[in-house]
Amino acid sequence: MMKVMKFGGSSLADASRIAAVAEIVRAEATGASVVIVLSAMKGVTDTLLAAADLAENADAEFHSLYERVFDTHENAIKTLFADETDVRSGSSAEFTHSGQLMGELTALHHELGDILHGIELVRECSPRSRDLIAGFGERMSCTLMSAYLSFLGEKAVMVDARRVIVTEAEHGAATVRLDKSFERAQAIIHHEQELPIVTGFIAATEDGITTTLGRNGSDYTASLLGAGLHADVIEIWTDVDGVLSADPRYVEDAFVIPTITVEEAMELAYFGADVLHPYTMLPAIELRVPIRIKNTLNPKAPGTLITHEAREEDRRVDTITGIASIGDVALINVEGGGMVGVPGIASRVFSALGSAGVNIIMISQASSEHSICVVCRRHHAQPAIKALERELAHELESRRIGQLELIPNLEIVAVIGACMRGTPGIAGRIFSALGKSKVNILAIAQGSSEMNISFVVEMSARKQVLNVVHSAFFTRSSDGTVHGTPATVVEA
Ligand code: ADP
Ligand code: ASP
Ligand code: MG
Repeated sequence: MMKVMKFGGSSLADASRIAAVAEIVRAEATGASVVIVLSAMKGVTDTLLAAADLAENADAEFHSLYERVFDTHENAIKTLFADETDVRSGSSAEFTHSGQLMGELTALHHELGDILHGIELVRECSPRSRDLIAGFGERMSCTLMSAYLSFLGEKAVMVDARRVIVTEAEHGAATVRLDKSFERAQAIIHHEQELPIVTGFIAATEDGITTTLGRNGSDYTASLLGAGLHADVIEIWTDVDGVLSADPRYVEDAFVIPTITVEEAMELAYFGADVLHPYTMLPAIELRVPIRIKNTLNPKAPGTLITHEAREEDRRVDTITGIASIGDVALINVEGGGMVGVPGIASRVFSALGSAGVNIIMISQASSEHSICVVCRRHHAQPAIKALERELAHELESRRIGQLELIPNLEIVAVIGACMRGTPGIAGRIFSALGKSKVNILAIAQGSSEMNISFVVEMSARKQVLNVVHSAFFTRSSDGTVHGTPATVVEA
């Protein structure tokens, strides 16, 4: 039995959570061979990126964020190693795990300080430097955890994933070179003899330049290692009982989905369910490695199993699987009577946006061909408008296309479920519930796989919309159980 276990920042919030993770790991490591993947401690990546932004603007406030990162780790160490004689850096004559650890963390902290200082001087933080800075959180948390597990008597060895995961020279969310990474994982990670503690999120190019796999990327690291090392299971440990039917921060009635297919999990993750990085499922598909989501705060709960095929008994007939949403998006409407019947407009719109590096999250075209609307994240909206104005300059001038319309502050909501395929009435149920609640819908799209219906609403309506759609399909009884909402309630 071989397992890859990934613990996210939420599982590493403070000393007591770190101690709980160490207990879970030790219980597993006695009977099986395990590889541990860790994120940064909770909030650390955000703090690092905020420090980078401040340093770039030569705002001296970055120093306090930089110190905060160190303090977070130091506070945890003081509690975790309270039994050891001396936790002060290097001042102990005899060897202590905590003394050595403080020395290593101090060195990392100085390295980070030098980089931030350099950025302050040149007042520029390139995407490459941002990746380097963002990765300090994982390097620190893994240094800490491997020292703590060694202190507890385990043969823990920290593995810097920059030696293992190879990516293209892209920054922010680099493309992984799978074969090369799998080869390195097999050569470098010795899970049979020791307990490897691998940094999530970070990777490197062939030339050793630090890259990252994108926010929430540690999930992806875990599945890359699970596939590369032929694990029997990949476990993603977080702070909720599994993949829920909706984001629990907005929908109180959200409940744990016991099993979900790879495709459904991918759609939910793509549409903003933070619990998983959208690529997590990809490496595991080929080798059919199952993925389980577990709760560090409630380890006995079964969690959610991501399966490669829906089991017949788990098929959710006549209903949806879950809802997710992405906020802070903008809608761009390209509209005009002169577009009707003219071939090639859509392809020109998409290639102009592609060349400008704009990631389109959703597309919808009215069948009258009168308008095409695309939805992208806020920071892509201006580059998108500029690219379209350039590409469609002739059409705009001749009024075949009217003004390009940009509507900001929107939310894309996606309703997901494999059982929507071939089940009539799901869309009707969603939109009649929203109509009854007087929610204004700006655009609608349905994937041809019929696994996803997505629509755009004002961001300010997010909570209301998620709850209205959720309760159109699910109702929680007073005893806490959740059951399907009868269709009559929605239609009444
Ligand atoms: P970690 O630090 O473990 O990687 P994240 O914060 O990245 O954890 O993801 C877990 C969080 O995702 C949960 O605490 C929850 O608030 C949020 N979340 C959003 N949508 C969902 C969903 N559909 N199911 C479960 N959690 C969700
Ligand atoms: N620490 C990184 C982030 O906050 C990666 C992760 O947590 O998965 O995005
Ligand atoms: Mg995460």
